[in-house]
Amino acid sequence: MDLQSFIRHIEKLDKRYLWHPFTQMKEWAEGTPVIITEGRGSFLKDISGKWYIDGVSSIWVTVHGHRKKELDDAIKGQLDKISHSTLLGLTHPPAAILAEKLVKLVRKSLPPPLGNTPLTLSPLERGAGVCNRGEFNSALRTPHSGLSRVFYSDNGSTAVEIGLKMAFQYWKHKGVKSKKTFLSLSNAYHGDTIGAVSVGGIELFHSIFSPLLFKSYKAPSPYCYRCELGKTHPSCKLHCLREMEGIMKKHHKEIAALIIEPIVQGAGGMIVSPPGFLKGARRLCTKYNILMIADEVATGFGRTGKMFACSHEDVSPDILCLAKGITGGYLPLAATIAAGDIYNAFLGEYEDFKTFFHGHTYTGNQLACAAALANLELFRKEKTLERMQRKVEFLKQALDGIRAFSHVGDVRQKGFMVGIELVKNENTKEPYPLEEKTGWKVCSRAREKGLLIRPLGNVVVLMPPLSVSLQELKSLVRITAEAVREVTE
Ligand SMILES: *Cc1c(COP(=O)(O)O)cnc(C)c1O
Repeated sequence: MDLQSFIRHIEKLDKRYLWHPFTQMKEWAEGTPVIITEGRGSFLKDISGKWYIDGVSSIWVTVHGHRKKELDDAIKGQLDKISHSTLLGLTHPPAAILAEKLVKLVRKSLPPPLGNTPLTLSPLERGAGVCNRGEFNSALRTPHSGLSRVFYSDNGSTAVEIGLKMAFQYWKHKGVKSKKTFLSLSNAYHGDTIGAVSVGGIELFHSIFSPLLFKSYKAPSPYCYRCELGKTHPSCKLHCLREMEGIMKKHHKEIAALIIEPIVQGAGGMIVSPPGFLKGARRLCTKYNILMIADEVATGFGRTGKMFACSHEDVSPDILCLAKGITGGYLPLAATIAAGDIYNAFLGEYEDFKTFFHGHTYTGNQLACAAALANLELFRKEKTLERMQRKVEFLKQALDGIRAFSHVGDVRQKGFMVGIELVKNENTKEPYPLEEKTGWKVCSRAREKGLLIRPLGNVVVLMPPLSVSLQELKSLVRITAEAVREVTE
């Protein structure tokens, strides 16, 4: 088969048999798909030989680039031993060694938990009369120990499901029967399984499933550009936190955990929370005996410029969910890391049935764990975080040009997570109607120019691999700027 026939063949098979995620397939059937056959560094090559910058790290996963020798070798090396064996009743070296490395990494990156420091209330909190330390039975206190146990699964949604179920069952074991629900944020995205959607807050994705979802409380999103409370930062003094506290104060007896994407709400539109928001949320969780689940599926492994986003505000969650970048973007793997106290609450005699009854077939896959180990080793060896700081700074300055465009309402950046919010009217912040597909048009223009990016509604997302070069970053921003200008002006 010659190349042109092969391309037509693949396109035909795709359109006849595949169902793509988050895709209107009628529209897909009318378009011409980009067929990716190769990758190298920050680039992807399509079947006709055209190269593109991978501007969103293959949906937020690629860390050290494609075809990274060390990652390739680690997987090949593991392949010569075994690809998969189960963690149900058996163990294996990559899973055990990686668990230790993850726990040590988390401990190095995050502060010791503040759980057992005496709970002192700020004058503001005392003034509000919200609670005194003595109001709580000490058996109900949130955990005092650091993150120390790794539970594997294979994607971000399952990492979240596991976190939610752990938190729920933890309180059962502690004899607290009433904590049956969760608190999450508007604009939150925690994955697409039913539990994860139940704590999600993106109307467009989630509302259709509402009859299937369990109840959860919603605190305001820290979305300063479009504050749902109608306030302005910083004069608001983080009013959104007060709203959160209001919900906690009223419902803490029902709330097992707060689940939060620390620092950046990703799929909600790259919403960067104002300084102090995360730390404030942590303090409120401690104060109201609510576990904190940090969903670092997107933000983990250097995305925000630190190993974990929680490090920006020196926050330790009680449960930490990791996925996307954990294997450097090579293979599906996820980890839910729980505090020692949570783990301990599940210990008992067999017949106590305190077991955490949860597991996935490919839990802790050997190849994926081998890739994750090589990923961590690369962070160390190549000083990935240190070396990205200059690039983050460069990106920040380069984005100033785009900020000035008349249909760019807001440019948000934390490390290598960037959201460019397009607006119909800059002064009124009137958004483009979604059906105009402005974000899509920008991305499709960028594609013609050799950059692959994918929008979130009216937000153009940039998320290059951490290994991107300054030269590549320059092209990434230049093409994005051209595409935005050509589509909106
Ligand atoms: C992507 C993402 C998830 C879901 O991960 P999947 O691997 O797609 O299931 C969960 N939480 C956050 C914050 C994410 O960005």
